[in-house]
Amino acid sequence: MPNGSLHRASKRENDAPLLGAHMSIAGGPSKALERGRSIGCTAIQIFVKNNMQWLAKPFSKEELDRFHTFIDPPRTVFGHASYLINLSANNPDLLARSIQSLMEELMRAEQMCLPFLVLHPGAHMGDGERVGLARITDSLGCVFRALSDAQCKIALEITAGQGTTLGYRFEQLAEIISYFPSRLRACLDTAHLFAAGYDISSKDSFWRTVAQFDKIVGRDYLAAWHLNDSKAPLGARIDRHEHIGKGKIGLEPFREIMCSGEFRHIPKILETPKKEDLKEDVINLRVLKSLLENKHTRSGP
Ligand SMILES: [Zn+2]
Ligand SMILES: [Zn+2]
Repeated sequence: MPNGSLHRASKRENDAPLLGAHMSIAGGPSKALERGRSIGCTAIQIFVKNNMQWLAKPFSKEELDRFHTFIDPPRTVFGHASYLINLSANNPDLLARSIQSLMEELMRAEQMCLPFLVLHPGAHMGDGERVGLARITDSLGCVFRALSDAQCKIALEITAGQGTTLGYRFEQLAEIISYFPSRLRACLDTAHLFAAGYDISSKDSFWRTVAQFDKIVGRDYLAAWHLNDSKAPLGARIDRHEHIGKGKIGLEPFREIMCSGEFRHIPKILETPKKEDLKEDVINLRVLKSLLENKHTRSGP
């Protein structure tokens, strides 16, 4: 059983939902806190370095100080690993680079005291799912052995199952987690779930999917929700995020996630398209908050 809080201790614990969006760290990670605060996020997700480059300059002491002493930050801040990392790569150079890069990202996340780093499990590149899953667990083993003291967990994200991507079934997440249960968690992305074939579009089907997750992975392992509507239809195995209520999923699962007491302490993060002024985030957050109206007493299915 997992233990310990995955979130920053806060004296300002209040009833506002843990809700926000992925925020850019351009200019330094403290800038992400600033961006999140500016639109009222109580939770944000960040990349721990430029997500499209392998190399990153180490954080300066000043930048880390700015991050740690930031006034009134979002209550929960967690990381998302680079998209370049593939722990199931069949090219030895790419695999070694991926393992090295994940170690570095985990250390950077540690420096920021992030509770967890969301990771796409990997893509088998044509070698088949069994081989691919074994490569992922071997790679994670390397990372965890090298960083045996790291407190930051890795939260495996459910994927849409596009191409040879693994992690599009709860069974696959559960299998990987079973090797390192104290160091791994799970992240559920509504768009990925839907594209992977989990019908969450009605209240009943949403809670049936949650019950499946509970049975196969375990609710205690749920670290975060990614709230995205999907441009792709159910089971299309295509990863295309859409604004809340504008895609193929509809509002029902978002209403359940926002209103149910079961997810009160789970951070809920938008990863929908946006520009620098964050206007789209503001609109999507407004849509999500509107689902809460008159629903405060709801608790579960
Ligand atoms: Zn992701
Ligand atoms: Zn996501």
